[in-house]
Amino acid sequence: MNTMKKIPFNILAPAFEAHAAEYEEAALRVLRSGWYVLGAEVESFEREFAAYLGASHCVGLNSGLDALVLAVRALGIGPGDEVIVQANTYIATVLAITACGAAPVFVEPDEYHGLDTARAEAAVTPRTKAILPVHLYGQPCGMEELLDIAERRGLAVIEDCAQSHGAMWRGRKTGTLGTVGCFSFFPTKNLGAFGDAGALVTEDGALADRVRTLRNYGSKEKYVNEIEGVNSRLDELQAALLRVRLRFLDAINAERAAIAARYGELIRSPFVVKPRLRPEGTHIFHLYVVECDHRDRLQEHLSARGIGTQIHYPIPPHRSGAYARLGYGRGSFPEAERLAERVLSLPLYSGMNEDDILSVCDAVNSFRP
Ligand SMILES: *Cc1c(COP(=O)(O)O)cnc(C)c1O
Repeated sequence: MNTMKKIPFNILAPAFEAHAAEYEEAALRVLRSGWYVLGAEVESFEREFAAYLGASHCVGLNSGLDALVLAVRALGIGPGDEVIVQANTYIATVLAITACGAAPVFVEPDEYHGLDTARAEAAVTPRTKAILPVHLYGQPCGMEELLDIAERRGLAVIEDCAQSHGAMWRGRKTGTLGTVGCFSFFPTKNLGAFGDAGALVTEDGALADRVRTLRNYGSKEKYVNEIEGVNSRLDELQAALLRVRLRFLDAINAERAAIAARYGELIRSPFVVKPRLRPEGTHIFHLYVVECDHRDRLQEHLSARGIGTQIHYPIPPHRSGAYARLGYGRGSFPEAERLAERVLSLPLYSGMNEDDILSVCDAVNSFRP
């Protein structure tokens, strides 16, 4: 007989249930309005998200990938140009660079899983146009050094904030530190929509204007197409739902940080390395990622105890089939490859209670390789 309680890696429904009436009211308001694409809800969300971050301009888009692609494109980066990016990211970051015809220049991560700043500077060439740090797992990269390199070398900084909504670097929110900040509102993100959605923020009004034109078939005025655009519009329904969730983002981040703090206190396995925290930043714990020499066996051990985990990410982009053409063999970026074999993300979701946390920690602490 098995009475073991299962703990999933993630569940999204409790975050909806906690404020169901507000989400339902927002959804019905849009359904009854008769206006579904690019309207008052999108404008309000753009204004509110920009205000939350302390940014001047926000443009709502279809996805986080589109935010990155349109940022690269609007900066005029294309064939012959290079963009420096960390090797241990989600493939979307790299796809944004190659989608514009530019070349990704991979750089190994530092001990916080962020872009290593010294190696980023060493990777700059006359073709480099931008640095693309990823605030991976919810922790900001070393922005002081990156902004300094960018300024000295005349480069743009594109922040991938798909996992860092509300994370701060020395009191400023990620996304407002570089030239442009790119956000995903995929449902699992800390600021998650109920479908696909994204946005970018910037202080550069002309850049925001270009992206606004690009997202709507290259037109500002209906049927007047100035440039070759795309369809990457944020819809009214997602914008209305995001406006509700944005009001709870700080609470969501605080709840996740509290769960991470309990993990930090209670996990005491000598076989597990807990995430290192930067003193200058606040980590919003999109993911709680540990490292282990025997990762696959740890994952099986937890799974046998009913605990779900995931790996972010098992194959670094440079080793993926999508980029076989780049010709990077095993060992090209050994640290990123080593992380791909060592990282494991523990359960972390809104509504996770103390019993669940204790069960996960007991299971981790009972692991023997
Ligand atoms: C989720 C994510 C993206 C892509 O966002 P989508 O909305 O799924 O297109 C990009 N970069 C990182 C680091 C992500 O985690």
